[in-house]
Amino acid sequence: MVNKSFYNNLVNELTNKVVRLVAVSKTKSVEEIKELYDLGQRIFGENKVQEILAKKPLLPDDIEWHLIGTLQTNKVKQIISHVSLIHSVSSISLLQEIEKRSESLGITSNILLQIHIAQEETKHGFTHAELANLFESGTLQKLTNTKIRGLMGMASFTDDVEIVKNEFSGLKHLFDTLKATHFPQAEFNVLSMGMSGDYQLAIECGANMVRIGSLLFGARN
Ligand SMILES: *Cc1c(COP(=O)(O)O)cnc(C)c1O
Repeated sequence: MVNKSFYNNLVNELTNKVVRLVAVSKTKSVEEIKELYDLGQRIFGENKVQEILAKKPLLPDDIEWHLIGTLQTNKVKQIISHVSLIHSVSSISLLQEIEKRSESLGITSNILLQIHIAQEETKHGFTHAELANLFESGTLQKLTNTKIRGLMGMASFTDDVEIVKNEFSGLKHLFDTLKATHFPQAEFNVLSMGMSGDYQLAIECGANMVRIGSLLFGARN
């Protein structure tokens, strides 16, 4: 069930702080998404390519779909023209595939580099060494149809606030450093961090985009 009063309060809170909300609708029905749409929400996040492709034609055209989950190289071609931002670019080869396919379709893809900030091995993202490789590889200079809009990260799944705070602050610091050194362009301006359990902490640490699912739509099965 969609929590409408929570949504309205959240939107007020985020608007005051100039933070954008990605409503994470994975596993939720088209009807539930429409309920939030009718309250004014336009950005929805999904973690599966097939789910976006299935839901998108059934919903209004002015929804911005964000892919927030792992993207396999062989699905890039299918999805890039359907999403306005991919949060989860976590390897050079994936970035190169997005560039190649965007060029051949004649479109521009907007992406975030996902950074590995959590302690868990299971979470994806560039490590510091992999980022260094990316900068040395010359890949960035060759991008013509892919725009790097910022960074995304997922904190450790823990009740320890200090750990989460350190991870978010570290990502904010990396964002500021990369902006100063590698991405001076104005459009490098998105820092996507924070979910239902930790979005307030993420905003305190400098997030300007949060990805919230269960607090809006109820728990997933
Ligand atoms: C599912 C998911 C979210 C939202 O999680 P909630 O805890 O339900 O808010 C955010 N980001 C990513 C990458 C996700 O997969």
